[in-house]
Amino acid sequence: QLPPIDGDFYNLDLKLTEAQRDIQLQVRNFMEDEIRPLVNDHWNRAEFPMEIIPKFAKLNITGIPYEGYGCPNLPFLMEGIIAQEIARVDVSVSTFFGVHSGLAMGSIYLCGSEEQKEEWLPKMQKLEKIGAFGLTEPNVGSAVSQGMETTCKFDGENWILNGQKKWIGNATFADVIIIWAKDVDSHRVKGFIVRKENPGFKAEKMEDKMALRIVQNALITLTDCVVPESDRLQKADSFRDTAKVLKMTRAGVAWQAVGCARGAYESALKYTKKREQFGRPIASYQLVQNHLVEMLSNLTAMQTMVFRLSEMQDEGILTDEHASLAKVYCSMRTRDIVSRAREVLGGNGILLEHDVARFVADAEAIYSYEGTKEINTLIVGRAITGYSAFVN
Ligand code: FAD
Repeated sequence: QLPPIDGDFYNLDLKLTEAQRDIQLQVRNFMEDEIRPLVNDHWNRAEFPMEIIPKFAKLNITGIPYEGYGCPNLPFLMEGIIAQEIARVDVSVSTFFGVHSGLAMGSIYLCGSEEQKEEWLPKMQKLEKIGAFGLTEPNVGSAVSQGMETTCKFDGENWILNGQKKWIGNATFADVIIIWAKDVDSHRVKGFIVRKENPGFKAEKMEDKMALRIVQNALITLTDCVVPESDRLQKADSFRDTAKVLKMTRAGVAWQAVGCARGAYESALKYTKKREQFGRPIASYQLVQNHLVEMLSNLTAMQTMVFRLSEMQDEGILTDEHASLAKVYCSMRTRDIVSRAREVLGGNGILLEHDVARFVADAEAIYSYEGTKEINTLIVGRAITGYSAFVN
């Protein structure tokens, strides 16, 4: 039996099988017992709790949808449910996990050769090797498909990479960093498995973030970085292949937004039932209830949307625009939910100890990464009108 759930009003959890609910419960208990007690302090100090990695490994939830290589091979729906459970307690930890299990492992799973998958995926599944994903650059974010400045050149034996990648989550301590670079000869985008010890690779921690402070984002500099041909992702030959990875993971970001919103809503509901003003719990006042119900209605709409999104992913009919619509909608509604949660906590809403302040800040990162609100809107706009409004 799952513990009482405030933020699943339409009982979507009941649509899971018993085995799936067992996994959900395991993740929920782990997040409550092992992660919640330490997140605010680590968030404040902008440090990643490295000791959680082996504990995470024991849950066996890495690489959920992949077949083979020691991965669980469960439906995408389960990957979403897990993303929600993790983000419900902390969005940074869910980003660490999403970058490793989704973006990095996903690149190797979708674009790697059989040898590359055999070499990396089993170790990454057990979190013995940690992954990162380097696409964004200092000068190009949204337009990275067109304006990528990082280059690669084949010298007959190795590839030589030059350029910079910005915002790369986990990259300060990752063992393997997927780097996307444009071939100076063919002008096509290629993907590389860069090992942290490769000559010419440097990762510097980005300081002073106001969101996702636990995530260790890095500025990567590649200076004549040498990568053998055997570490070029053998099935990645254009940005279309990068986009396949992003389509798969964007659905997960929508679920992450749901988890962030749910965590904020549940904290707010609990607080308003306890906090008394004018001799009564503030939850008994109509204006406070209005906030709570607005939050719950948006949360419930988001949950039903991502549930169907993952079903479509499992049915093999998910398109880029399906994933983009959910990412846009959920990240916008999450911003509204966390801001109402902050409001009903009064002054305590800006203190880390009540969790809501962290969700407010972290919602801002969800809003911008894996395609900003505008870019995902334009992806949907192009699909429904037939006109691309991106450039010129
Ligand atoms: P820009 O592209 O410069 O956009 C600035 C503004 O202009 C935005 O509002 C944007 O929507 C708008 N805009 C741009 N073009 C258009 C247009 N055609 N029409 C209308 N509006 C437009 N990247 C990685 O590769 N790996 C990671 O692990 C990673 N982790 C991240 C973690 C965090 C916390 C953050 C904040 C980012 C991370 N990113 C990562 C980068 C992220 O994907 C980019 O921030 C995002 O793609 C936006 O790029 P940008 O920040 O350069 O903004």
